[in-house]
Amino acid sequence: MKTQSSVLRFAASAALIVGMIFGATRALGQEGSVKRTTFGKLGDGTQIELLTLKNAHGTTAKIITYGATLQGFWVADKGGKLGDVVLGFDDLSGYLAPHPYFGATVGRFANRIAKGKFTLDGREYTLALNDGPNTLHGGRQGFSRKVWNAEILSSGAGVASVKFTYISPDGEEGFPGALKTAVVYTLTENDELKIEYTATTDKATPLNLTNHSYFNLAGSGDILGNVLQLNADQYTPVDSTLIPTGELAPVKGTPLDFTQPTAVGARIAQLAGNPGGYDHNLVLNGENGKLKWAARLSDPASGRRLEVWTTEPGVQFYTGNFLDGTIKGKGGTLYGKHAALCLETQHYPDSVNHPNFPTTILRPGAVFHSESIYKFSAK
Ligand code: BGC
Repeated sequence: MKTQSSVLRFAASAALIVGMIFGATRALGQEGSVKRTTFGKLGDGTQIELLTLKNAHGTTAKIITYGATLQGFWVADKGGKLGDVVLGFDDLSGYLAPHPYFGATVGRFANRIAKGKFTLDGREYTLALNDGPNTLHGGRQGFSRKVWNAEILSSGAGVASVKFTYISPDGEEGFPGALKTAVVYTLTENDELKIEYTATTDKATPLNLTNHSYFNLAGSGDILGNVLQLNADQYTPVDSTLIPTGELAPVKGTPLDFTQPTAVGARIAQLAGNPGGYDHNLVLNGENGKLKWAARLSDPASGRRLEVWTTEPGVQFYTGNFLDGTIKGKGGTLYGKHAALCLETQHYPDSVNHPNFPTTILRPGAVFHSESIYKFSAK
């Protein structure tokens, strides 16, 4: 009897210890993790990978090596239900076809360069025109259409982190200098997606990097009912081709005044002509190079909130004005006008032709660094 009960006691404590070990392992397994799978193949057989970053709450960021593109971002609503809050495609063919930079890393120069021309150190450079009379988002085959190399930096211990690298050859798309670029995506246990950019060059070159995610916090419908606040007292007015005039103007008294939380759709009709909604660079308050909040966005229906922080001096607020229902995205959804909005943290458009704007010139020996944080919550 006595022996039997001590055997039972031993078995019970052994089970407890085993349970603790396995429990602990399970708990560890629930922390930040990164999974690496195949997303598709290019015509020449090049594999495109999908890196899935997940935290303990199930918040999941999916990034593909084609364009170092944020393909999916699953976050909880106020009821705890996970939903995908970025536009994009279920498979690679969508990303290979023409599309307006869904989720992509944009470079070498995000936004517009007037007439595809700039002069650097006394030499004039000419780029391809791919947006009416201007160059947009790096030209014909910008960074959004390159295959990036992926390296897992951390998987576990509460942080899931992946580094994407791409070397842009000297002369690519008309830009000078071989440019080594790295983009690190990190998902934290606080539901923050941090995107960090570093770059070095062997010749002076303009550089403006951003992420071009289209957010829809409800996961469907339009974004006109979303409430937005921007940390910007000024913006850069533009001409009819969306090139800055060079002036920094106050937002006060214009539909761009989001200094107080305001519905995106409240004054959008005032911009109905050209550009058909918001498509403006806001000048962020605070110091260029220092991390500061840029935007707060909330969707009253789902309760989802997004806060954007950045070291960049500007943010391009774009309300998907050129989406016209012809692109079939995830789950067969046709993306219509204002189906999502972009908050592209960046240097000001066409900075390379405006000496009064913060410089976008990277020189040999210097290391470019910038970071932006997209923090999600629900209430
Ligand atoms: C630009 C828009 C453009 C969109 C997609 C945004 O950054 O400001 O004018 O249509 O990107 O290319």
